[in-house]
Formats: sequence, structure tokens, C-alpha cells
Amino acid sequence: MDERCFPNPYADYSAGSVQLLEPDGKLHAGLAGRIRAALPGLLKQVEDGQRSESGHDYSIYTGSTGISLLYLHLAQVFKDDGYLKKALDWVQPGLKHLKRKRLTFLCGDAGPLAVGAVVYHRLGLKEAQDSCLSKLQALGPDALNLRSDLPDELLYGRAGYLYALRFVRKNIGDHAVDEKLVDKVAQAIVSSGQALSKQEKSSSPLKYMWHGKHYVGAAHGMAGIYYQLMQTQSAASQAALPGLVKPSVDYLRKLQFPSGNYPSSLGNTSDRLVHWCHGAPGAIYMLMAAYQVFRDQTYLDEAKRCAEVIWRRGLLKKGYGICHGAAGNGYAFLSMYRLTNDEVYLYRAVKFAEWCLDYGKHGCRVPDRPFSLFEGLAGAAYFLADVLNPGLARFPAFEL
Ligand SMILES: [Zn+2]
Repeated sequence: MDERCFPNPYADYSAGSVQLLEPDGKLHAGLAGRIRAALPGLLKQVEDGQRSESGHDYSIYTGSTGISLLYLHLAQVFKDDGYLKKALDWVQPGLKHLKRKRLTFLCGDAGPLAVGAVVYHRLGLKEAQDSCLSKLQALGPDALNLRSDLPDELLYGRAGYLYALRFVRKNIGDHAVDEKLVDKVAQAIVSSGQALSKQEKSSSPLKYMWHGKHYVGAAHGMAGIYYQLMQTQSAASQAALPGLVKPSVDYLRKLQFPSGNYPSSLGNTSDRLVHWCHGAPGAIYMLMAAYQVFRDQTYLDEAKRCAEVIWRRGLLKKGYGICHGAAGNGYAFLSMYRLTNDEVYLYRAVKFAEWCLDYGKHGCRVPDRPFSLFEGLAGAAYFLADVLNPGLARFPAFEL
């Protein structure tokens, strides 16, 4: 047995055996009641823990702004503006400590700026909202500079800035950010990938690296970049889809292991990590998007194979978080359910939610940042709130 995951203790779905939803499309009252009852305790642990441990980390990934994003999410899920006040409290430290070092949503200044803009927007504080938006757009020239060593991946690179721009447009309105900036950033990502492909004489028309490796997955790799490009409505990204993105996706998808999993980087043949950051739980989004854009059944078939390995090996000993934990893996099922309407995926998401509700009882390792959004309990809380209304669930800082 794989030493990285627990054997999945749950029976697989059998049609009609369990009621998963209420007639209004929300989660069945039994589990919904358990989640609602557990959330206040979880949030208290997150707040106490994060306050004592977050120090100078203001990121969404492991810092204070991640807690703000959680509360912004809860305000939407529960239609409760009381959570907005919390979201404001947790975003303000990040806005006071912009580092001008990184520009991504997850790990850079774009995180507090984009989340801050949306929180201020919801609170009707237009001046503060506009101040965040102008600072967010002022990061544009750094993202567009192709001579810098800025990578293109999601955590530290251009795709993570692109996501921030799309995040504010989705939550405030298209007018929030100049469409031309979105288009230029998408074009810069495409141009950067073309340049590396040319340099390497690769058969993939786009290629990307981070820290000297051709990563495959959602966080540092090409699957995450292609997913963001396919999701972006801009002239540059749309023009790149048939001739550049599709053959690059096809190059990557051939790496799928017999298990359904993906390697973490090109040339790596070990089938080990089943994480959103590395492996099938991240690559599946690329395949789902490719299916939606290119309408080729093969992408969906391969996404289903990803879902199988996530079901078998997705209850990770690393814990309950989003980046490399059970909650992040559960999101793959929610997304597959939205795409296919097949209850098997909803059932599996529900089982992963039940697993997360029992957090702390399985003997998982304690992550470095145990209360944070991407490594810790805040992520589990975010996922549990999303399971309450599966049709509206979105992987934070990745899907929109
Ligand atoms: Zn990870």
C-alpha cells in the first residue's frame, strides 16, 4: 500500500443507495447539519492558530489573506455580511505590508489587493476598492516584462497574476480591470511558452519551467498554466487555443500513468504524488477544461481516470488542506460533478467531506502551517462550506 495515503475506507457509490441532495440542489440535510455544526469550532481553531503562528505571512497560500478569502467565501455561502467584517480584519494586515516582491494571487501582493478590492466592494467602500484595483493594475508592467526571470506558473508567476485580474472582474465586474491588461498578460504567458519551446526545439508549441524543472501540475506546472489560459476570455488566449494550447495539452496528457495519475515533472517516471499541486488532482482541471473547449470525449475519459486515482489514493497522510490534502482532492470530484452531473462524483466529494469532518482522528502529519488556507484547517473549512452547495463550489485561487 502507498505510504502517502490511507486506504480509502468508504464503499464506492452505488446508484440510489444514499440521498445526496435535497430537492433544491443543496446538500442533504444530514451531512449539511453536521458541517454547519462543525464550522464554528473549526473557525475558532483557525483564528486562534493563525493569529499565533502567521507572523509576517500575509499570503493567501499560508498567511492572513487566506483567512480573509475564507471569510469572503463564507459571506457568500451563508449570505451573512457578518463574515465580511472578519474578511476585512484579515485582509488589512496584508494591505499594510505589500512587499513589492511577488505579484501573484496566492503568494504575492495581488492576493491582498484583489481580495481587498472585493471586500471593499461588498462593503460599499468605493475609494478603498479603487485604490486596491489601481495598485493591482500597477503590477502589470512587471508581469509583462518578458526579459525578467518571472516564471509563468500559478504560485509565483504570470498565471497567478492573471488569476487575480480575473478574480476581481468576476467579483466586481468586467470594468474592474482593463480588458487590455488581461489580454496582454495572457499574451505574455503564450509568448514566454513559445520562446522556451523554440529554444528547446520541443514538439510541444508551449513549454514552461519553474526552478529548472518542467513541472506538470497545477501549482508550478504546465497543467495549471494551460487551465488558466483556457479559462481566460481574451483575444490572445482564445487565439492561442487551437494552434498552441491544444497541442501542448495533448503533449502533456500523454504522460498519464496507467493508474490515472500524472508525474510531477517531465522525465520523472515515478507515480507518487496525488496532490492538487502535483499529480492528477491538478491535471484533471486541464482535462475538464480541454473537454469543454475542444469537445473531444478523450479528454473527459482521461479526467475520469484522474478521478479514479484520486478516489483510491486521495486521502492523504499530509492532512486535510487544499494544496496537498484531502480537501483539495475533494474539489476534483465537485468539479467533475458540475461537469458531468454524475452523482458518483458528488458521492465521492461527500465522502471526502466526511473524512475532513473527522480531521485530527486519522493520525495525519501536521503540516508546516496547520491553520492556513492552502496547507491547513482553513482549507478544510473552505471545502466543507463549498460541499453545502455543490453546484456553486469552486477551488479557491484556481477556479472561478
Ligand atoms: Zn502542495
